[in-house]
Amino acid sequence: MQEFPFDELDDLYQKIILDHYRNARNKTNLAHPDIEYDEFNPICGDQVVLQIKLNAGRIAVAGFHGEGCAISQASASMLTDMLEGKTLEGAKGLAEGFRDMMYGRSPEGGDLAALGDLQALKAVRRFPVRIKCALLASIALEEGIEQFLTERSK
Ligand code: ZN
Repeated sequence: MQEFPFDELDDLYQKIILDHYRNARNKTNLAHPDIEYDEFNPICGDQVVLQIKLNAGRIAVAGFHGEGCAISQASASMLTDMLEGKTLEGAKGLAEGFRDMMYGRSPEGGDLAALGDLQALKAVRRFPVRIKCALLASIALEEGIEQFLTERSK
């Protein structure tokens, strides 16, 4: 693991991030996912493969696998934990709200609570080079949904 460079982070945020890194939720390789997207961050060699199984238009299961720095893997764990039961539209809204927070904008509707544990990653904003690490899983989510919708409309 890469060193966790955030000694000055708020203790609570650091605890949440490290907990998701060490005890990652939904870290699995799903068989026959409806959506799968492999996203890579060359800056620190992070990889997240995000997978989703749908049922009646909603996300039934979300999982990920990959490797990389604590931020990228914790973020994938936090994000996949928020997806079950959401429509693809809802999942996109979550990714957009998260990106807004990471870039210092208020999410649409100003609803930070809707981001769940992802809120802890706002501490990473102070390290601009690591923002891509934090966003990696949500980029995979948005690209994966885009790919799924494009293929379906063919
Ligand atoms: Zn990283």
